[in-house]
Amino acid sequence: MESAKQVIIIGTGPAALMAGTLLLERGHAVTFYEQKKAAGRKFLVAGHGGFNLSNRIDQPAFLEMYDREEIREMVRAFDVDDLVAFLDKIGIPTYIGSSGKVFPQVHIKPIDVLNAWLAYLKRLGATFLFGCQMVDFDADMVTLLVEGNEETKAYDRLVLALGGASWSKTGATGKWLELFRGKGIEVVPFEASNAGFEIALPEAVRAFEGQPVKHVACYLGQKEKYGELVVTQYGFEGAPVFYLNGAFRQGNKALLLDAKPGFSLEKIIHILEQAKNPTEGLKQLKIAKALVAYIKHKLRKEEFLDRHFLGQFIKRIPFTIEALRPVDEAISTVGGVPFSALNNDLSLKQFPAVYCCGEMMDWDAPTGGYLLQACFASGAWVGSMIK
Ligand SMILES: Cc1cc2nc3c(=O)[nH]c(=O)nc-3n(C[C@H](O)[C@H](O)[C@H](O)COP(=O)(O)OP(=O)(O)OC[C@H]3O[C@@H](n4cnc5c(N)ncnc54)[C@H](O)[C@@H]3O)c2cc1C
Repeated sequence: MESAKQVIIIGTGPAALMAGTLLLERGHAVTFYEQKKAAGRKFLVAGHGGFNLSNRIDQPAFLEMYDREEIREMVRAFDVDDLVAFLDKIGIPTYIGSSGKVFPQVHIKPIDVLNAWLAYLKRLGATFLFGCQMVDFDADMVTLLVEGNEETKAYDRLVLALGGASWSKTGATGKWLELFRGKGIEVVPFEASNAGFEIALPEAVRAFEGQPVKHVACYLGQKEKYGELVVTQYGFEGAPVFYLNGAFRQGNKALLLDAKPGFSLEKIIHILEQAKNPTEGLKQLKIAKALVAYIKHKLRKEEFLDRHFLGQFIKRIPFTIEALRPVDEAISTVGGVPFSALNNDLSLKQFPAVYCCGEMMDWDAPTGGYLLQACFASGAWVGSMIK
């Protein structure tokens, strides 16, 4: 390190906290400013119903979850082992659940993880100031709105970890996009990611709201994903839907669903032919009731009675996706600051002492711990790059 810097970090999400961790460990002075009254609101929301912090599936499958080489480089440099070692250091043991998902040990709640991390940062000398909204910055000053009054603070380095634009009640409002645009910094409009598909489902299918449609394969554009869907009033959600969001944003709307991916067409037709009627055949094939309702709604009587036609339909059930759910409901967003506006150390080309990290940058990944791992890793990248 050349000399200790006065670093201001805006935000207290996982990207901000990890950037601050490395900076403090390396002897810099760090002050966090957060517009909400408490730290890490979205981090805690992510912990509802299981705190999936990262994922331990092997590379290259792990790296393929990310859409940009830049973010892959960061998750390679700060990987799941680094995260697990860090969590261990602050007293948070982890375990690996299904599909490689990494969780804190069962008795540890999301708030315990956050509190352990904040306590560690305070021991290293971090200062946290809440209710402070950044409203402007220039090359060496940041302007904050504190209880209705503007205050300016000087910095040596400014780290922005402002988040994306979903779940705005957590503080991730995306309002900073306009500030950046006004300064002539290249930005990409936000779009929903890891969001449900809006599909006009008939009432007979919507009646199965909340029920899973298990073991199906979904095809959209060039992408396919096996897994479990959930029926909602607006369409479908679930891991395959989230995985296929990117294909939808590229303009693909025709979703095909294979209701029996483990069975060949011949086997399905054989079972349908052996059954006393098609409804009984669908039961023997264990097709989810919601899909049976959809099949009956879509097919004319003679098509339904034709075992070959019905078999082919089961392997390729068509749906038209109308939209993704609104941005505010999405688990994450794409858009924000593109890598083309950033130097390799994640400083802004236009403001070389200002760094960006986390979901505010334009990259994408599915749920399953990949989002948080990239937020941790990009924060660590910035934290290690500031000399
Ligand atoms: C319902 C839900 C479930 C999720 N589940 C998972 C999961 O299981 N696994 C996974 O990997 N990811 C999950 N995520 C995604 C994950 O939580 C986010 O990707 C991650 O929190 C983003 O981190 P970040 O540090 O970039 O931004 P954030 O966590 O959004 O933090 C940004 C912070 O910046 C503050 N801020 C913004 N603007 C200003 C300003 N002008 N002045 C001052 N402060 C400001 C905000 O108040 C906020 O505290 C989930 C998200 C949601 C909504």
